[in-house]
Amino acid sequence: MYKYIFGPVPSRRLGISLGIDLVPPKTCQLNCIYCECGRTTNLTLDRKEYVPVIPAILELKDYLDNNPLPDYVTFSGAGEPTLNSGIGRIIETIKEDYPAIKIAVLTNGTSLYDTEVRKELLPADVVLPSLDAVSENIFKKINRPHSALEINRIIEGLSDFRNEFKNQIWLEIFIVPGLNDSEEELALIKGAVQKIKPDRIQLNTLDRPGAVHDIRAATREELLRVMRILDLDNTEIVARAPRQKIASYRKDIESAILETIARRPMTVEDIAQILGLHTNEINKYLDDLEHVDKIQHVIQQQSVFYKLKSESGS
Ligand code: SF4
Repeated sequence: MYKYIFGPVPSRRLGISLGIDLVPPKTCQLNCIYCECGRTTNLTLDRKEYVPVIPAILELKDYLDNNPLPDYVTFSGAGEPTLNSGIGRIIETIKEDYPAIKIAVLTNGTSLYDTEVRKELLPADVVLPSLDAVSENIFKKINRPHSALEINRIIEGLSDFRNEFKNQIWLEIFIVPGLNDSEEELALIKGAVQKIKPDRIQLNTLDRPGAVHDIRAATREELLRVMRILDLDNTEIVARAPRQKIASYRKDIESAILETIARRPMTVEDIAQILGLHTNEINKYLDDLEHVDKIQHVIQQQSVFYKLKSESGS
């Protein structure tokens, strides 16, 4: 059983992606209201070796030397990967030892004002930062940042990174209806995007329950409206991934999830702990099972629980 890597999972943007998670769950500079991994428990700007670099590299090598190569190794997980001060060393090792594999880094972008972080990410093939708001008050409402973070400084960091990084930047804007989809906020976002000059702009919205329950997904029409207002080249709606089954999709895991939640409703963290799998991997199965109406989620005590779908559909 691996501790730091998970998958491979089919990613909506990166094909077959082997994940590597370099921080303990919910260690992040933000506490986004839409976070699929629940509330941030360690809201921090501290960079350190949360996960030790050498064991993480050994695990990665063990996987890559014994399995078909994925399209990407993706730094992601249930926290912010750039908080691990060893990320640069791991990226360098992959590039040296497995030059055919591409590297993606999913980041909230808040640490790119740090020249050291920017330097460490330079060998990556794709960096996917987020920018959901430009007004300080909306930034605070959606992303609930660490108190020392300022949105203007974050935008400067993204723009500096653009000037230094020669590969792909795919900027994600997560639309939360009623918060960042007003004409005024979108005009500010457009200004920031024109400064950052990403290769792609990807509009995303909720497709799994977030950290709070009084938000909803934007409809396709609402996303199209945002696209029209932004009126920027290379903007796309990140559609839900077609329900492809990957080679590693395991019926036994699906059955184990169904058996586990048949006893009592559970959170994704409960299920991951019981089955000894990463929450991101469990999320993919939950997504599939919810899509085919075998399970449903319910909100209880401000947490998202999964249970078998009842006959009545309620
Ligand atoms: S969505 Fe990403 S950036 Fe936001 S709280 Fe969750 S892990 Fe952190």
